[in-house]
Amino acid sequence: MTAIADLRDTLTAVLGPAGVISDPVELRTYECDGLAGYRVVPSLVLLPTTTAEVAAVVRACHRAKVPFVARGAGTGLSGGALPVAEGVVISLQRMRALVEVDPANHRAVVQPGVTNLAISRAVSAYDLYYAPDPSSQQVCTIGGNVAENSGGAHCLKYGFTTNHVLALETVLPDGSVVWLGGPSPEVAGPDLRGLMVGSEGTLGIVTGVVVRLLRKPEAVHTLLADFPSIEQAGNTVTDIIGAGIVPAAMEIMDQLAIEASEAAVGAGYTLDTPAALVIELDGPADECGDLFEAVQELCHRNGTTKIRVAADDAERGRIWTGRKAAFAAVGRISPQYFVQDGVVPRTRLAEALGTIAAMGAEAGLRVANVFHAGDGNLHPLVLYDDARGEHERAEKLSKAIAELCVDLGGSLSGEHGIGTDKACSMPVMFGEDDLATMDRVRRAFDPDGLCNPGKMLPTPRLCGEKPGPYRPHPLEADGVIERL
Ligand SMILES: Cc1cc2nc3c(=O)[nH]c(=O)nc-3n(C[C@H](O)[C@H](O)[C@H](O)COP(=O)(O)OP(=O)(O)OC[C@H]3O[C@@H](n4cnc5c(N)ncnc54)[C@H](O)[C@@H]3O)c2cc1C
Repeated sequence: MTAIADLRDTLTAVLGPAGVISDPVELRTYECDGLAGYRVVPSLVLLPTTTAEVAAVVRACHRAKVPFVARGAGTGLSGGALPVAEGVVISLQRMRALVEVDPANHRAVVQPGVTNLAISRAVSAYDLYYAPDPSSQQVCTIGGNVAENSGGAHCLKYGFTTNHVLALETVLPDGSVVWLGGPSPEVAGPDLRGLMVGSEGTLGIVTGVVVRLLRKPEAVHTLLADFPSIEQAGNTVTDIIGAGIVPAAMEIMDQLAIEASEAAVGAGYTLDTPAALVIELDGPADECGDLFEAVQELCHRNGTTKIRVAADDAERGRIWTGRKAAFAAVGRISPQYFVQDGVVPRTRLAEALGTIAAMGAEAGLRVANVFHAGDGNLHPLVLYDDARGEHERAEKLSKAIAELCVDLGGSLSGEHGIGTDKACSMPVMFGEDDLATMDRVRRAFDPDGLCNPGKMLPTPRLCGEKPGPYRPHPLEADGVIERL
């Protein structure tokens, strides 16, 4: 009997027939995540419902030396949940319980398969919410958010997932169960909770999350401003931050992204404007009102052609629907597309966008831009048509854009992770010693290399070559940071 057949029988006894998928057609449902250009059919999919079941599955994989990949909703955009052909997928979709809400202490305990939005909905009656808000929040899971250290439009002011999870129940790659972190933000010892956040499912499987909840703000003001150029929209963002104002969110969309979003959801954006900037301020009513005036003044100084202020919650909702629908909406104007995710210093936004436009023109491909402008977190969408043989060109352009971000002093990823997609670009950003240190940490958790192998860190097998020679990061070359 093969190791997989053996695992199937052993784990059917633990999870019941409903918890094990081995039918080849059903297995195909799990062959990719949001990076749909890469597909691998797993040998088995397991659907545990409790931490004890996850631990039993991981222990069995560990004994049989079979690789395993955790999966939430499969919305990841960097191929983090891409299966291993000779391995199993552990889906956390059936672990959807909201275990406990503690409104007095602004905390909740949830299972990993709970969706991001379900947390805010569940605590809304207490006037609380969960702050990080990926555009995929209706479907993506908190387990996936933790693994990717996900962000969202409002992370400019409130921080990323790592700032909103206090403790993680984790099944380690040998099947043991530990709690990392604690109920309060100040925990003694090394921050292993912090290490787990953003580790892309490579250090263990998260089975419980203690999230921090925030009080809903007293006032919220939202506007949508049109600009004659993307540079003017970008300069407005720089001026707002320069004036000491930190809005809850500042998001830019270019004309192509607006066209796609309008075709999909018709949120009332101006179709022929080269750029639109969504700005949201929240906080105490008096302070917020004054700052909103100042922000509008800065929009005018930078040549805005139209400002639409959300008169009520319904209109605010429409403005956000237009922005949050943009990724998926791009499917309306292109059969396929890559979503890139790089970061540049805010001051180099205009330069980055100009270079990306030139790179797109040279490659003969359209690039739409939707981005978290306040964080300098770009999401260029490289549009292509597989039927016209454009896949390879688009992939190359997308990779070149990510590496451009590093060249400009930024990062390969702002929030979507490295996954399968960008593992081979890691040597552009990190030296061999840095990567070796990350690998040592990973092996301390997973000496057998069974937990989401081939993700995040480059391997000669994965990249078809040894990591390239060390190139200093531009911040290091400028003397801003130092290599120890
Ligand atoms: C339309 C669209 C919009 C998006 N917008 C945003 C955005 O605004 N901001 C943003 O940050 N991201 C965004 N994303 C990306 C994606 O939604 C996030 O990365 C999300 O956190 C993934 O969650 P998931 O449940 O789908 O995880 P999956 O895709 O299933 O998995 C992602 C990674 O997490 C690991 N993982 C999953 N569950 C666990 C667990 N319990 N324990 C350990 N590892 C686990 C997987 O192995 C994989 O490496 C968007 C995606 C789409 C399709």
